[in-house]
Amino acid sequence: MDNPFSRRDIRRGKAVYWIQQNLYWLNFNSVDNRDGKFGPKTEYWVKRFQKHKGLKVDGIVGTATVKVLWDEVKKYQRILNSLGHHVVPDGLAGPLTFKATRDFQYKHLLLVDGICGPATRRKLIRETAPPITKPVEPTKPVKLVKPLRLIEPAEPIEPVKEAVPKRGAVDIGHLGKDSGAFHGSEKEVTLNTLIGKCLADKLLEAGLSVRILSGTLRERCDVANSWGADFIISVHCNASTDEKAHGVEVWYASETGRKLASLILKGYPPEFYKRGVKKGNFYVLRHTKAPCVIVECGFISNPTERKLLFTLVPEISGAIADAVIRWCDQNKVV
Ligand SMILES: [Zn+2]
Repeated sequence: MDNPFSRRDIRRGKAVYWIQQNLYWLNFNSVDNRDGKFGPKTEYWVKRFQKHKGLKVDGIVGTATVKVLWDEVKKYQRILNSLGHHVVPDGLAGPLTFKATRDFQYKHLLLVDGICGPATRRKLIRETAPPITKPVEPTKPVKLVKPLRLIEPAEPIEPVKEAVPKRGAVDIGHLGKDSGAFHGSEKEVTLNTLIGKCLADKLLEAGLSVRILSGTLRERCDVANSWGADFIISVHCNASTDEKAHGVEVWYASETGRKLASLILKGYPPEFYKRGVKKGNFYVLRHTKAPCVIVECGFISNPTERKLLFTLVPEISGAIADAVIRWCDQNKVV
C-alpha cells in the first residue's frame, strides 16, 4: 500500500481530518483547522504545502498531493523512531507522533510545540546525518632526503577566530503563560506563535542563532540575558475596545532599539496602517540588556485586520526578518 486513502475516501472527505492533521504537524495548518471539513482555510494551506513541495498549486488534494504529504510525514516519523522516540511510521500524525516530536524538541532545546516545522525538520535531518569521515590513504614508506630543521615562527600565529553567529531572541507574546487578547475565536497567542515561529525560521535561514522566549516575563528576560542575545524581538498583537482601531506599532527603549523599530515599521507590509514607533516602558524593554523591540503586529480586535494578520503571516515575519538583518549589518553585531 503506498497511500493510506483510497480515491473514494478523498472524494467523500473521509481523509480530510488526516490531511489537516498531517498538514498541521508539518506546520502547514492552523491549530483550529482540524475539523474534518474541507473549507477555504484547508484549501489555503494545501496550496502552501503544494508550493513548498513543488507540486501543482491547485488546492485540490489529489492522489499526488496525498502521497507526497503521507511520505513526508512517514519520513520524519521514521527519523524520530530511529532516534529512539517510539512512533509508528504510518504517515498519519496522531497524538503519539506529536508527543515524540515534543520529546525530541525538549531534548534538543527547540521550541516544544510538537510541530515538525522547518527548524525541527532541519534538526532531525542533522541528527541522522552520518559523521563525515576522510577516506583512508594507503600508507607509503617515507624516504627522508634531508633531515628537517625545525624553525620557530618569527611571529606567533594568531588563531583563526571562528565567526560567532548573531544571537537573536524571538519573544512570542503570551506563549506558555496566559493567552493574551481573545477576539472572535482567535487567541492572540495563536497569531504571535505563527508569526514568531515563521520569523525564527527566517532568521535561522539567514545564518543567525535563534532562541524562542516563552513563560513568565521574568523567565524570558533571564534567558535572553544569560544566553547573551544581541537583540530581542517581542511579537504581539494589539487589541482595543474600539473595533475600528487598526495598524502596526513598534515599541523601543534604547537608541539602537529605535533604529531597529524604524526599520521594521518602514518595511512592514503596506496593507497595514503605520501607527509609528513609540518609546515604551514595558517590562521586557526595561529588563533586557540587548536592544529590544515589541512589534504590535496589528489589531486582533478589528475583524478585517484579524483576517489580514492570519493571511499575511509569511509577509509580516519576512518584513521583520529583513529589517533585523539590515539592522545587524548596520550595527555590525557579531
Ligand atoms: Zn500581547
